[in-house]
Amino acid sequence: MKPAGILGGENFVAKVASLLLLGLTACTTPSPHGRVTPLTTSAEDLSLCAHQVPAATCTRCHPEKIPEFKAAGDWCAEHEVPESQCLICHPDLNFEPLPALPPDADVGRLSEAGEDVEALETFVVPGKVTIFDFYADWCGPCRKIDAHVFGLLKERKDLALRKLNVVSWETPLAKHHLAGVESLPYVVIYGRNGQRVKAISGLDLSALDAAIAEGSQQ
Ligand SMILES: [Zn+2]
Ligand SMILES: [Zn+2]
Repeated sequence: MKPAGILGGENFVAKVASLLLLGLTACTTPSPHGRVTPLTTSAEDLSLCAHQVPAATCTRCHPEKIPEFKAAGDWCAEHEVPESQCLICHPDLNFEPLPALPPDADVGRLSEAGEDVEALETFVVPGKVTIFDFYADWCGPCRKIDAHVFGLLKERKDLALRKLNVVSWETPLAKHHLAGVESLPYVVIYGRNGQRVKAISGLDLSALDAAIAEGSQQ
């Protein structure tokens, strides 16, 4: 007979495997080094150089840009590149260009730098599906939410995107709205009649699409 081990045998293996999987699609910790800032992805042309980062801002291609990154605290001293270009420390960095938004896209920023905001219900847009997107610059998968939702905003006028920059788990915004949330991105969806549909922690675009579809039916 197999004893029930302290670690729980197969269950433990399954749990570790699922945690590893989650690690590929979600962020739980900010960088222990510098800060990943949007400096690297601020270039208009995000095509990659031989270093697999945007050529226009790559500090190995353009050493004259190093002081700018260091001044912003965006520097990995261990690997001598900006934190936002260090694929060793952040294998999930994502430099995909975001789809251009139409000028009338309903996008707003509720929290620029972790400052707290009132209950989300206050900001729901009547008659639209409202998507509240809690993100951080150090969270590579968070950028995939933008890419996906920007694509939807090009096609649909009944969606509103409201972005909230968490910055870290210690900010007033995080303490108020992310209690019990395990990973970013964290997205909360409200339907057209203002009812809360779903909250999704970690990158799950099919769950997001399903929640938007459900919110559209309200
Ligand atoms: Zn380069
Ligand atoms: Zn590094």
